[in-house]
Amino acid sequence: MSSSPTPPGKTPTSVTPLILSRAVKPVETDPSVTQGQPAAAAGPALAPVARPREPVLSAVAAAAAASVQPAQTASQSQPPGQALPLAAVARPLSDSGEFAASEEERKFLCLLDDGTLLVAEGHEMNPFVLSYCARLERLNCHYTTRLVTLDAIRRSYQGPRRDGSAERIDHTRMQVLAKNLIARACDERASDIHIRVNRFSTEILFRIHNELVRISEQTREYGERLLATLYAAMSSVSDNTYKPNERQDAAIGDRDKLPDRLFGVRIATAPTSVGSVMVLRLLYNDAGEATALTELGFTVAQANAFELLAQQPHGMNIISGPTGSGKSTTLQRVLTKQLREMAGSIHVITVEDPVEYPIEGAVQTPVVNAPTEEARSLAFAAAIANAMRLDPDTIMIGEVRDRASAQSALRAAMTGHQVWTTVHANGALAIVDRLVDLGLPIAMVTDESLVTGLISQRLAKLLCPHCSRPLAEAMAQLDMGLVARVRRAVGARFDAVRVAGPGCPHCKNGTVGRTVVAEVVRTDATFCELLRAGRKPDAQAYWLSELAGQTVAQHALEKVAAGLIDPRMAERVVGPFMPGSGGRPQPLGSGYGT
Ligand SMILES: [Zn+2]
Repeated sequence: MSSSPTPPGKTPTSVTPLILSRAVKPVETDPSVTQGQPAAAAGPALAPVARPREPVLSAVAAAAAASVQPAQTASQSQPPGQALPLAAVARPLSDSGEFAASEEERKFLCLLDDGTLLVAEGHEMNPFVLSYCARLERLNCHYTTRLVTLDAIRRSYQGPRRDGSAERIDHTRMQVLAKNLIARACDERASDIHIRVNRFSTEILFRIHNELVRISEQTREYGERLLATLYAAMSSVSDNTYKPNERQDAAIGDRDKLPDRLFGVRIATAPTSVGSVMVLRLLYNDAGEATALTELGFTVAQANAFELLAQQPHGMNIISGPTGSGKSTTLQRVLTKQLREMAGSIHVITVEDPVEYPIEGAVQTPVVNAPTEEARSLAFAAAIANAMRLDPDTIMIGEVRDRASAQSALRAAMTGHQVWTTVHANGALAIVDRLVDLGLPIAMVTDESLVTGLISQRLAKLLCPHCSRPLAEAMAQLDMGLVARVRRAVGARFDAVRVAGPGCPHCKNGTVGRTVVAEVVRTDATFCELLRAGRKPDAQAYWLSELAGQTVAQHALEKVAAGLIDPRMAERVVGPFMPGSGGRPQPLGSGYGT
């Protein structure tokens, strides 16, 4: 604690705080922040948590500390009543726990976890203060007294999330760190930032190409303050009070607070058994530049199918896939392309909860946050009904997730609109089951003029062309079952199959982004009739043979055979390869029935 201020003319023993602050902010690597810190906070990295009861360093200090003494020791340069630099980093101990003070006592004093006892000036002999000090001495707790104003006492209990000026400074400092963190995640092309506040530490992870990568470890306090800052100072929700003990959702929409590449950040927080977790979903705005679906990984045939779907005056087109499978990006490209081709002569309106990506030329309407799931559902359905009255040509509904939104989407299609939406289902054909589960009549769901497109998509990692290796050369390290499955599935193209390399300057761990593997069904009368009759395998076979369909698994296998995807990564996305699945009609796992 050599950094503690030693006022001139005082012996160091009388002023050195004996207790390490829990709130010491050690791990900060950003020099701009460390410079801005009060000297007392520049503690050693990852200092062990020292409790106020720890042994005293010297007898002199003990004697000096154990008695109530004037404030000048630790704060000579700071008259009582000034803003509390310590309050920005130290936390109250006397609000709860073994050093808890009574409500009356708390009006006049506050014990901080850096060993400072704040006492209201003029109340040194107040019976509440005296009795609390006596209690501390019984607990063998050593402290340094500082005289401050009553208001400073009150503020010191308000914690890091209130409106005190010291806290504002803290938020500003943390905002710089938060912005840097988000910018760094952008550079890495991360889709999410995970911040886990644990019992003694904070872990920060990025999700890059769908995998979590550990970025840094910080103190618990650092994490708590980062979360509070991200929520309270950066988000744009109406009630921006961060409550670590509640589940909360928010968003950062203010472009000034975000790197240029981001359109917004979605925030979700929840308490955990040891602390709390916050996940930030980064919404990139650069996808709007390009409109080609083939760039995302769709085949030319699939892109053409989308084109035809977009040209139909009405009908519902539904994209399914798990969270993070790129559905929103696909929708954004389809609608952007439609708007550009029509030179803005059509009215595209979106109903989203919340708006995920900007679509140039579209009217995007977010659904206001509702407190309960039921209210949300009602608000969403009402927003769709409202959108229909706004004279749209095309409506994009962020997600059909309950009966109300499913019915609204169907109604929009029935009244002559083109509808694009997403749903959680395991395959293109499974969308039909899902819509029936949501309460839509099967007769309508299998009406080829109402439901025109069924799409399912996943994302698989794309191999780095610079460091990937032929499978044939890596066989010794691979599971023989996998090698046999690949050989059976791709046949003569086995030699072109490649696996991930060790990573190189061109890539991250051997991969360079992700590519879509998909199935796109344009419904027709026969296909719908088979579905309506409950003959799903026949509908699937008809689609594959007569409509030149390709399942997600077949699409993935194509990419494996072309050396674009590692077969292990492909199997993780679409399941084990089946014999013959590289060939023509072959009902496969993710295409059907799940
Ligand atoms: Zn590489």
